[in-house]
Amino acid sequence: MKTNKNSAPVIIVIFGGTGDLAKRKLIPAFFNLYLDGWMPEHFSIIGLGRTPLSAEEYCNRLSDGISQFSRSGTPDPEKWKSFISSVTYLQSDINDPGSYRSLGETLDSLDKQWQVRANRLFYLSVAPQFIEPVAVNISQSGIASIPQSDHIIIEKPFGHNKETAIALNKLLTNLFLEEQIYRIDHYLGKETVQNILAFRFANALFEPLWNRNYIDYVQITVAEQVGVEERGGYYEGSGALRDMIQNHLLQIMCMIAMEPPVSFEAEEIRNRKVDVLRAIRRMKPDEVHHYAVRGQYGRGWIQGNKVPGYREEHGVNANSNTETFAAVKFYLNNWRWQDVPFYLRTGKRMQQKTSSITIQFRPVPHSTFPDSQSDRLAANRLTINIQPQMDIRLRFTTKRPGLEMELNPAEMVFNYDKCSTQSPEAYETLLLDAMRGDATLFMRADQVEEAWDVITPILETWESRDSLDFPNYVAGGWGPESAEALIAREGHVWAVNADGIYQ
Ligand code: NAD
Repeated sequence: MKTNKNSAPVIIVIFGGTGDLAKRKLIPAFFNLYLDGWMPEHFSIIGLGRTPLSAEEYCNRLSDGISQFSRSGTPDPEKWKSFISSVTYLQSDINDPGSYRSLGETLDSLDKQWQVRANRLFYLSVAPQFIEPVAVNISQSGIASIPQSDHIIIEKPFGHNKETAIALNKLLTNLFLEEQIYRIDHYLGKETVQNILAFRFANALFEPLWNRNYIDYVQITVAEQVGVEERGGYYEGSGALRDMIQNHLLQIMCMIAMEPPVSFEAEEIRNRKVDVLRAIRRMKPDEVHHYAVRGQYGRGWIQGNKVPGYREEHGVNANSNTETFAAVKFYLNNWRWQDVPFYLRTGKRMQQKTSSITIQFRPVPHSTFPDSQSDRLAANRLTINIQPQMDIRLRFTTKRPGLEMELNPAEMVFNYDKCSTQSPEAYETLLLDAMRGDATLFMRADQVEEAWDVITPILETWESRDSLDFPNYVAGGWGPESAEALIAREGHVWAVNADGIYQ
């Protein structure tokens, strides 16, 4: 184990400690932080859940989760034993104030044992309807009464629409200070997403080109190969726009489009991001069809296996109007980006799992080369692959070696895998930041509300009019034809084409 790099004692309380997220992401992240020496000497993780479980049963459940989902694989027995000695399980009822009183006694006794008031992190890993009772009970029981050291973490979704997001924010900010609230968007914790800031603001080379004078358009694609799996019931009330565009894709767009921050202070970075959201041109309801396209997958083939259509999935209405694909063209009203389209696209059951950003530069103003070579003059392109491929690629044109002047596209590649054997998981980054009190990568109330405001006209238009052509794309493709048309109108093409090839 490495040396301890994080010294303030901390108690982490996970509401929903028996849930899927705790097993799949949270405990593996804390264990990896422990292995890498990032947990303080004094730490305690308290899992809360409804199910009666012995300490041993809870430990086995978590250990299974590590073996299945952690980047570090099956835990080393000695290290696991040492880690799990700091983990306890408390059976509790979210709605019962008595449960919070006994939780408070446990917290106080740890403070007494360590002779210091530890920082407290309350992770609300519960369904959205439980946020209110948990937050109210935490507040009323007084267990998070020191704003500098007590924080709560809220999982997505932050509301179902703009009104419910505002109501949720109002509820939380009546109970806690905004600085105590960490709203997680795990995309922001991804190594490659954070690298966007380093790439943009630690290099002088690209920033002068990072504007409407040199950039033709920007694309952000988050494509999944999986369908809705066991989450059909949840997804029916959500859809691609809410589930992905409102949060992850708009947040990535903020990192690409934001102005250089004066410092790396959390508030400064979040101010610059919220500026982007405020600058996004709002659509009028009768313009939505021009800027946004929705899709729903039908049957198809994924990696040689026949897969059902969305309407045949478990928990899904046979006439469902829920979109599993969304593509939107946004414009920003500001000096840097005026008239540069930002194309955001996400879908389930796509041909390939990929999250990538494409910055397409303008073509050269005049071709010096003979006609035979001019169509080989591909404009410069910067591709930032977030997952599963993790790299940055710059395309430029070179001369093919030989006696003739033949043009040839080439790529410079920075490959993450080659410079780091194991990147931390997004949750590791975010949980460490939360333990250290760094809010930079968490969403502030106004970011959430602006993002909802941006998509509200699309949401309302789609909800008011059923799509008559669903299902309109085959599983294993790249979405509906209308998504190609959306961008072809400007003479543009998606960077990943119908054959799954980067163009
Ligand atoms: P889950 O259904 O697997 O777990 C829910 C947890 O809540 C369980 O531990 C259960 O015991 C507890 N619970 C429910 N009612 C309770 C009560 N009355 N008293 C005490 N405990 C009670 O849910 P999950 O998948 O872990 O998701 C948790 C949250 O995280 C949700 O808001 C979800 O949207 C969000 N989220 C989950 C994932 C994921 O990968 N699972 C990803 C992103 C966001």
